[in-house]
Amino acid sequence: MGNQKVTIVGAGPSGLTLAWWLVEDGVPVTVLEREPAIPRDMRASTFHPATLDLLKASGLASTLIERGTVVSQWQYLIHETGERAIFDMACLNEVTAHPFRLQCEQFQLTELLADKLAEHPLCTLSFNASFQNATPHSGGVTTLYLSQGEQHQLESDWVIAADGASSEVRKSLGLDFTGHVFPKTSITLVLEHPFEEDISNLLGVNYVWLPDRHYSLMRLRDSWRFTYSPEQGQEVETALSDAVARSHIAKVSPRAAGATIRNRNFYTLHQRCLQQFCHGRILFMGDAAHLNSPAGGMGMNSGIHDARSLADHLLPVLRGHNPRLLERYDRRRRTIALEEVQRLSAQNYARHRETEPEKRRIIWNELQNTVNDPQRHRAYLLDAAMIRSREREQTIE
Ligand SMILES: Cc1cc2nc3c(=O)[nH]c(=O)nc-3n(C[C@H](O)[C@H](O)[C@H](O)COP(=O)(O)OP(=O)(O)OC[C@H]3O[C@@H](n4cnc5c(N)ncnc54)[C@H](O)[C@@H]3O)c2cc1C
Repeated sequence: MGNQKVTIVGAGPSGLTLAWWLVEDGVPVTVLEREPAIPRDMRASTFHPATLDLLKASGLASTLIERGTVVSQWQYLIHETGERAIFDMACLNEVTAHPFRLQCEQFQLTELLADKLAEHPLCTLSFNASFQNATPHSGGVTTLYLSQGEQHQLESDWVIAADGASSEVRKSLGLDFTGHVFPKTSITLVLEHPFEEDISNLLGVNYVWLPDRHYSLMRLRDSWRFTYSPEQGQEVETALSDAVARSHIAKVSPRAAGATIRNRNFYTLHQRCLQQFCHGRILFMGDAAHLNSPAGGMGMNSGIHDARSLADHLLPVLRGHNPRLLERYDRRRRTIALEEVQRLSAQNYARHRETEPEKRRIIWNELQNTVNDPQRHRAYLLDAAMIRSREREQTIE
């Protein structure tokens, strides 16, 4: 492997899974993280089968399963009538070791990885280390970062930008992050309330339709996540207020409206992608490289898929293979980001939020036709489980 060193900016799920796969293969890695500890903010909660399959080899999937909730069936549910379209992942038994969605907070993975990496002799995990800029030169890349008010310099052969949606690495290179903002924003609450006692036939993941709106209800081990869209033009503060939040909860369960709200967050939803993921010795992945609507839960999962692909391409290069091999990482993961992840998550965004009765009826019939036709049902789930995009990726040269 020579003495090649890799610096990863950002200790999110993308950066830490890559760090783990590199050190496991003998590569020295430094991770720079701006925050004083692994962020515990409310982000992803769904791990899809394809991702769990990737995490299985390192023993990570089994630990996550212990910390999360296994959801084998999920549904669209019409609140008024109780009509349902149920997706049953058992039909994926033959293609995945994990035919289910795992509902588990993303910080469970990042904290687990940070603990493992902190003990690994090949990894330096630096918190309170805020990336400033990176200067490539003939022998590698010089990275400047701030820690405890002091500037530090780090030499490495490769720099990986895994520093999320507002990537400083991306900004420091002046790269365009082409795309758009979705018209509707989103608010997620974490609630302590047994919704399953109030709404019959509730599953672990539910997209709930009311006549004029949509909610999602996702079960975690000790709580439920409840997501709603603020009214058009509503101030963020108002939309997040107790009164408004509780009025939304009351629409699905009046009894739950008094529940403890453990956490609440507002999100603007973007769809963006870099024009290239590889810029010489600076390589992009995860949210730093591409963004999609969270509908369908694909952002973190695709960041972890980037990490696997980048490890598979970078490891041979570190062993002496021509660096042009990295162009295939770019081709594969950009194609998947644009043609699979963004396409499917934008479809989910539109499907979840449609409220016009006639259009909804068409979507509902489509969902019923899908769940009632074994072939279409399986094809739908291969997409949703991100198995097909992993397969497609392998065919891109
Ligand atoms: C409400 C919501 C729900 C979601 N649900 C899902 C879901 O169910 N499934 C799913 O797959 N995805 C979901 N996502 C998306 C998912 O959270 C992101 O795609 C994922 O966090 C991206 O991981 P990342 O490692 O690329 O970036 P991040 O998780 O953003 O990590 C970047 C890291 O870089 C650090 N950093 C930033 N700047 C610097 C700097 N200058 N120097 C050093 N460090 C820096 C940050 O502190 C952070 O730790 C959801 C997102 C939201 C908002």
